[in-house]
Amino acid sequence: MEIIQGISVAPGIAIAPAVVLDAEEYRIPHRHVAPGQVESELNRLARALESSIAELQEQRTALAAQLGHDAADVFNWHIGVLRDASVRRSVEQLIRAKQHSAAYAASFVMRSHQRRFMQMSDPLLAERIRDVRDIERRLVRHILGESREDLAHLSREVVLVAHDLSASQTAQISGTRAVGVVLDAGGSTSHTAILLRSLGRPSVIGVKDVSTRVSGGDLMIVDGTHQIVIINPDEATLAHYRSEEQAYDRLIVELQSLRELEPITKDGTRIRLNANIEFPGEAKTTREYGADGVGLYRTEFLFLRGEGEPTEQEQCRAYAAALKGAGGRPVTIRTFDLGADKYTQEKHYEQERNPMLGLRSIRYSLQNLDMFKTQLRAILRASVHGPVRLMFPLIISLMEFRQAKMTLHDAMEDLEDEGVPFDRDIPVGIMMETPAAALLCKELAREVGFMSVGTNDMIQYMLAVDRGNERVSRFFTPSHPAILRVLRDVIRTCQRQGVDCSLCGEMAGEPLYTLLLLGLGLRDFSMAPRNIPEIKKLVRLVTIPQVERVARKALTFETERQVTNYLRDATKKVLPGDPIY
Ligand code: PEP
Ligand code: MG
Repeated sequence: MEIIQGISVAPGIAIAPAVVLDAEEYRIPHRHVAPGQVESELNRLARALESSIAELQEQRTALAAQLGHDAADVFNWHIGVLRDASVRRSVEQLIRAKQHSAAYAASFVMRSHQRRFMQMSDPLLAERIRDVRDIERRLVRHILGESREDLAHLSREVVLVAHDLSASQTAQISGTRAVGVVLDAGGSTSHTAILLRSLGRPSVIGVKDVSTRVSGGDLMIVDGTHQIVIINPDEATLAHYRSEEQAYDRLIVELQSLRELEPITKDGTRIRLNANIEFPGEAKTTREYGADGVGLYRTEFLFLRGEGEPTEQEQCRAYAAALKGAGGRPVTIRTFDLGADKYTQEKHYEQERNPMLGLRSIRYSLQNLDMFKTQLRAILRASVHGPVRLMFPLIISLMEFRQAKMTLHDAMEDLEDEGVPFDRDIPVGIMMETPAAALLCKELAREVGFMSVGTNDMIQYMLAVDRGNERVSRFFTPSHPAILRVLRDVIRTCQRQGVDCSLCGEMAGEPLYTLLLLGLGLRDFSMAPRNIPEIKKLVRLVTIPQVERVARKALTFETERQVTNYLRDATKKVLPGDPIY
C-alpha cells in the first residue's frame, strides 16, 4: 500500500482499479491471465519485443540516411534496453510467477526503471526517464496490438491516472465510466482542475510521479476530500474507505436538502450564490444546487469540440440554451477567455514562451475582431431569451474596456440595421483579475456596469505564481496578506462607487474563505455548482458583525500561514466537523 499526497480539485471518494493513460491513451485491459494462458502471454511478449526492435531498427536506418549515423544513435539505447536479457527476464518472471498479463508485466517493469532514473541526481541520466517511457509505450503498443481500447468503451468503473490531461481530454471524461481522476501535473485552479470540478469526479492532481508508480489494474482509492491517493490499499484501509464513501453520500443528500432554503445570514442579509458553468447544459442543473443564477459562463469551452471557431448560429444556440436552462435567472456570459492554457496554444505552430502573460483573453479577442464581433452578435441575439449580463475577461486598462465596448456598440448597430431584436440595456462588466485593474478600480468602477473578481488569475498575477504549475502550487494561496488587502480595497471601492461586485474565482467556493469574504463586504459569490450547498450552510450560521470581526482580525496577520490557521479555527467554531471541500 502506498499513500501519496496531492492537490484536491473535486471532493468525494472513488475506489476502482487504475487505468493509466499515456499520450497515446492506451490502456491495459487485464492485469491477470488464467494459468492456461501464461505460455501464450510469454509468446506475445517475445513477438512484441521482436517487432519493437525491428521497428526501431527501421527508424534508425531511415534517420541515418537523412541525418547521419550520429543522429541515429539515439535509437541504440532503446534497442539495447529491449534486448537486455535482465529486462526480459524480469517481465517473464512476473508473467510466470504472478500470472500477470504481458502488457501489465512489461509496463510494471518499465515503470520501475523510470522510478530508478527519477531518483538519480545526474540530470543527464534523469533525461532517460523520457526514453524509458517511450520504450514502455512502444512495447505495450506491440503487445496489445488490436486489443487496445479507448476511454469511451470502458467496460467497468476505473480511476483514470495520467501525467496530465488537456482541457479537451478532460471534457471527454464526462461520457465515460471513469469514477475518479489522478494526475501528475496541475494546480488547483488550472482549467483542467476547473473542468474536473464541474464534472464532479473525485480528483487529486499535482501528485508528481504518480503515473509511473501506478500500473494499470492496481486498486486505487482517490480521496478528493483529504487530497490523497492510495495505491493497492490493505484490507483495513479499504474497509475504512468503503464506509467513508457511504458517509460522504449521506452528507451530499443532507446538503441537497438545503436547496430550497435561502442563503441568508442569521441577522437577515441576503447573499447571492451563483454558479460557474462551462457548458450551456449545466445551466439547468445549477438550479438543482439552489443557484441564484449563473455568475460566470466560460464560453471559451465551446472551442473544445475541436472543430475550430463556433459559428454565430452555433453560439447563439448555446447561449440561448444556457438562458433557457437558467429559467429566468440571470446569466453572466463572459466573452472568450482564450489563450494561456486554453485552446490557442495547441493551434499555434510556435507556442508562446510565456502564455500566461501572452496573447490571451480580451487581448486575443481585440486582435481577432471578426471572431469577437461574431460572439457579441450571438450573445446579443440570445439576450431575448432571458436576462444576460456581458462580461469581458482580463481587463487591464480603461482603454481596453472602451475598445471592447466600442466593438459591442458596433455589433448592436449592425443588429439594429438588420432589424434583429436584442436587449439594448444589457449590463456590461469586467473581470477584475490583475493588480493593474485593482489599482485602477475606482476609475474602472465609474465606467463599468459591474465587476467580478477572478481570484484564480488575480492570485497568479499578484503573487507571480503560475496557477497551473504543480511545482509552485504551494505558493498559490488566497490567504496571502496581499490578496486579502487587494480584495478589501476592491470590494470597498465598488461599494463606495455603487457598483455590483462579485467574486467568481475558486476561492468563492472554499468554505475556508466564506467568513472572510462576507466580512470584507462581499454579497455576491459565484462558484462550482456543487460547492453551493456547503457555502449556503455556512452563510446561514453567521451574523454580519461576527464575520466583520473575523475579516478585521484576518487582515492583521503578516503571513499566509497565520491567516489560514486563523480562518480554519474561526470556520470550525461555526461549523464543527470536517468541511467536505
Ligand atoms: C479567475 O481567473 O478567477 C476566473 C474565474 O476565470 P478563469 O478561471 O476562467 O481564468
Ligand atoms: Mg481568469
